[in-house]
Amino acid sequence: MQCPLCNGLFHFTPHCQECGGRMDDVGRIEDYLDDYSPYMEQHHTSFTHCTHLFQCQVCREDTIHMIPLQEVNQSHFSE
Ligand SMILES: [Zn+2]
Ligand SMILES: [Zn+2]
Repeated sequence: MQCPLCNGLFHFTPHCQECGGRMDDVGRIEDYLDDYSPYMEQHHTSFTHCTHLFQCQVCREDTIHMIPLQEVNQSHFSE
């Protein structure tokens, strides 16, 4: 099971709850543990989800999303 965002299989661009702007995938929340430890208390690391941090392009509001891991069939992508 792999995270489709970490593997670049698709781009997830949620809309900002504050201003409706597009939000960019900043990276895995694990990379921001120091700054976002309060988040981690609510969203524990999971073996079924990859937790990504998103930041609004417009107002810089940030939020996190739990990305479901997917079965990646490598042979499928090599065709
Ligand atoms: Zn990921
Ligand atoms: Zn915004």
